[in-house]
Amino acid sequence: MKLTFWGAAQVVTGSMHQLVVGDKCYLLDCGEYQGRRKEAEDRNRNFPFPCKDVFAVMLSHAHIDHSGNLPLLVKNGFHGPIYASPATADLCRPMLEDAASLQEHDAAFLTKRNMRRKSLNVPGIQTDAVIQPLYTTQDAEATFPLFRPVEMHTPTQTGPGVLYQSFEAGHIFGSTTMLLELESGGKKVRLGYTGDLGRPGLPIIRDPEPLPPADYLIMESTYGNRVHEPIQSVAEKLAEIVNRTYKRGGKLIVPAFAVGRTQQIVLLLHELTQANAIPAFPIFVDSPLAVNVTEVFRKHPELYDEEARAFLANHGDPFGFHLLTYVRDVDQSKALNDLPGPFMVISASGMCEGGRVLHHLKNNIGDPRNTILLAGYQAEYTLGRKIEEGWKEVPIFGEPMPLRAEVQKLDALSGHADREEMLAWMKPLVSGLKKVFLVHGEPEQQTAFATAIRERYQLDVVAPGRGQSFDL
Ligand SMILES: [Zn+2]
Repeated sequence: MKLTFWGAAQVVTGSMHQLVVGDKCYLLDCGEYQGRRKEAEDRNRNFPFPCKDVFAVMLSHAHIDHSGNLPLLVKNGFHGPIYASPATADLCRPMLEDAASLQEHDAAFLTKRNMRRKSLNVPGIQTDAVIQPLYTTQDAEATFPLFRPVEMHTPTQTGPGVLYQSFEAGHIFGSTTMLLELESGGKKVRLGYTGDLGRPGLPIIRDPEPLPPADYLIMESTYGNRVHEPIQSVAEKLAEIVNRTYKRGGKLIVPAFAVGRTQQIVLLLHELTQANAIPAFPIFVDSPLAVNVTEVFRKHPELYDEEARAFLANHGDPFGFHLLTYVRDVDQSKALNDLPGPFMVISASGMCEGGRVLHHLKNNIGDPRNTILLAGYQAEYTLGRKIEEGWKEVPIFGEPMPLRAEVQKLDALSGHADREEMLAWMKPLVSGLKKVFLVHGEPEQQTAFATAIRERYQLDVVAPGRGQSFDL
């Protein structure tokens, strides 16, 4: 039995771990690597193993950095089953379709630019100016029939000597941790995988569950060196920011991932409106993906936590109310550019790397009456990170724009557990663990977290590099 780390190895993107049991090979997640264009392109296109030899995929959750390379895996010859929770399978459809259409859109844009440069004889432009999308909508569609939805807590044989069982991870809707009970050559090994681990008390979703005992644990470490603000203060802070911006007559721009963060903020705004804690002003969710994803949330009320269930029982649909408009089409989105404030717009992407939020930022980032509210993790080199760090000027569509709007953060809504929450979650596993593999973290976070685990639990901890293998 052998485990090899191909993605999210000392970085927070491109989660993909390869497991070999007997003569079969499996993947835990198959995420898109997001980063600098050239590097991302190489990483995503070139799998370090023959895709047709992968027997099955076990998918922790629907985020693109965990699921986004599945269409390329399929395009390259994979035709086995993809095991995931029913909500994850449902979410992957709109999310992978959206990712594919972004790829197609990007490729068309770059091709057009190359053609224009070529016609102007710009030096350095190659003759092969047509850029191919990483994958197309058709590739994404070929992936959906391979999904095998499995309810949580349901042990399922996913191959010879591989028993898979998933548990609530509390990270996004449908997210799971998993326990794999492996057997090969008379040897038995229990391997735990956190996927991305959430935190207790997040709106809508249930709290992370503990895993049964395991010999080895693959553990995420995004916030291995951080302690978040308490969640209780989120609604209060959001109300404060809304009220302040409203008084200035400003606009509130919220870059947020279409899955999870958007629905959480919508629910909080709905609650604040019910409580008359914020003024009655227009709120827009400007993302066709968020509209489709919200439908999946409505389809799976069995995954709601108690608070969201109670809200549903008392007030009806948590994700719709009179002040809120979901914006699907482009013209409606563009019309927001000419709409006078105050109003609020929630739009993807969460790290400001693409999507409609870029237009809203471009139009509003220079006005001190406005507020940009960052609601999640901002990775290195992203526009979101630059805004978070308060640069005087930030590049939007290649143009430097002055950053004069107020910048605020809602850290407490983070979908990732912090250091203390992770240590508390893993505590019941400690006595049985032989080794902990840290993944999904930047080196500084991982080093600090490894030290914390060693000091508190005296465990063997390693943060594998890309391509590093371990015999189990
Ligand atoms: Zn995630």
